Amino acid sequence: MFDVVIIGAGVTGSAIAREVSRYKLNTCVIEKEEDVCNETSKANSAIIHAGFDAVPGTMKAKLNVMGNAMMDTIAEELDIPFKRNGSLVVCTKEQDPEGLQVLMERGKKNGVPGLQILDREALIEKESNLADDVTCALWAPTGGIVCPFHMTMGYAENAYENGVQFFLNTKVEKLEKTGEGFRVQVHHADTCVDETIETKLIINAAGVYADEINNQLSDRKLHITARKGGEYMLLDKTVGDYVKSTIFQLPSKMGKGVLVTPTVHGNLLVGPTAVNVEDKGAVNTTMNGLDQIARVSAHSVKNVPLRQVITSFAGLRAHEDGGDDFVIGESEDVKGLINAAGIESPGLSSAPAIGVTVAELVRDLLNAEEKSDFNPVRHGILDPDTLSLEERNQLIKENPAYGNIICRCEMITEGEILDAIHRPLGARSLDGVKRRTRAGMGRCQSGFCSPKVMEILEREVPMRVDQIGKNGVGSEFIVGENKELS
Ligand SMILES: Cc1cc2nc3c(=O)[nH]c(=O)nc-3n(C[C@H](O)[C@H](O)[C@H](O)COP(=O)(O)OP(=O)(O)OC[C@H]3O[C@@H](n4cnc5c(N)ncnc54)[C@H](O)[C@@H]3O)c2cc1C
Repeated sequence: MFDVVIIGAGVTGSAIAREVSRYKLNTCVIEKEEDVCNETSKANSAIIHAGFDAVPGTMKAKLNVMGNAMMDTIAEELDIPFKRNGSLVVCTKEQDPEGLQVLMERGKKNGVPGLQILDREALIEKESNLADDVTCALWAPTGGIVCPFHMTMGYAENAYENGVQFFLNTKVEKLEKTGEGFRVQVHHADTCVDETIETKLIINAAGVYADEINNQLSDRKLHITARKGGEYMLLDKTVGDYVKSTIFQLPSKMGKGVLVTPTVHGNLLVGPTAVNVEDKGAVNTTMNGLDQIARVSAHSVKNVPLRQVITSFAGLRAHEDGGDDFVIGESEDVKGLINAAGIESPGLSSAPAIGVTVAELVRDLLNAEEKSDFNPVRHGILDPDTLSLEERNQLIKENPAYGNIICRCEMITEGEILDAIHRPLGARSLDGVKRRTRAGMGRCQSGFCSPKVMEILEREVPMRVDQIGKNGVGSEFIVGENKELS
């Protein structure tokens, strides 16, 4: 019997798991994918928004500003890359600058510090590549950029180290209310075994599927529209400093525009588009979408070096149709069901605050005591680039795997890959290694390092080479031996 079952190991479920792990509770996370951070949390703009966008008084506004303020501590405790690079919302000649005032007033009501409207002269000192038509902008110094993979994994690993169990490759198929709590029927995809788990509380952090989880138990139905929000282009590190801050466009009748931003790892990111879709797995990119990004980005930043695109991707926003806010709290008609649903943007920025808010609710509902031995500190994968030459030489002497470069684009060593595989909730797929270490994230997009990473995985974990996939069951690369096929 668990006290708490959390469904979903995206950034929301992982942040909640870490905050719940402060209490003396028997908690588990159930995730249908083979790894944490495998759905919306892996494909977004990676911005820690300042908080001027959400309507004052909403949960989105409150949790965004609170989450933003928590980020320095979270980044330090979880050892994840985070930078307050500041954000600009730019206004062009054709637009009414009054729109910036509206955003600034809204931001002030939400409690966003340091907002300022800058004229073109001040802007050009900050950003020399702004489009010629840009006249002024709203500057938010608290805006930041983060690595969404490391943020989610940092939370999940820290939860695990504090006693939370994770069932990956495990899908919640059916939920039933019992006298004391809930019966959760799950299917383990890797072993093809079905199992029933009992729990006092359920936390629904199932992203675009949160309506399906809620609607199995509650008469207060939710409906989540997956909004493809949408397609992005990622540019090579050689142009990562083309802009320093995150450049948003002032929303207009034509839409919210696209952003141009550096990433915390030194790439340049341009996007997204926004389209409603029925298919909750529709994360393909399209020629139209990418053309649109190229055209619209030029309104704010001139000559974006699009020849340096190394990959494109898309993500899905979980928009709850009943309102324009997050749905967070205990269900009105099902005692013990806690929803964290409709977590669309700014869900990443709000995750630290959602984690604390939901964990406090759990504490109150279960009368839980705090653990005296909760450890808030997690150590990330050692990055040899952060060492001096002497320190690096010493490291290689002690462990020669740090002298063996596996990914030539990102200069990732075998030592980092071994760490990614053997740490808590370690990588079991190529994407798992990639998201933890960046092996395969560079210019060649894993063309050269995939076979080497597969060899290391085969050697280090109990998996045959034909079981190793890009991201779990069904994505295997090797289907048989040549001679079997002929
Ligand atoms: C294009 C785009 C750009 C964005 N940009 C930003 C941004 O810059 N800043 C920001 O703050 N926010 C941004 N967001 C929002 C942010 O990415 C999301 O709010 C956040 O990632 C949601 O996390 P989640 O954990 O709720 O959902 P997910 O990451 O989708 O996690 C839900 C998990 O539940 C699992 N699951 C579902 N059903 C089941 C089941 N039956 N059994 C077991 N597991 C299940 C899924 O496999 C998944 O892993 C953006 C979103 C999009 C789409």
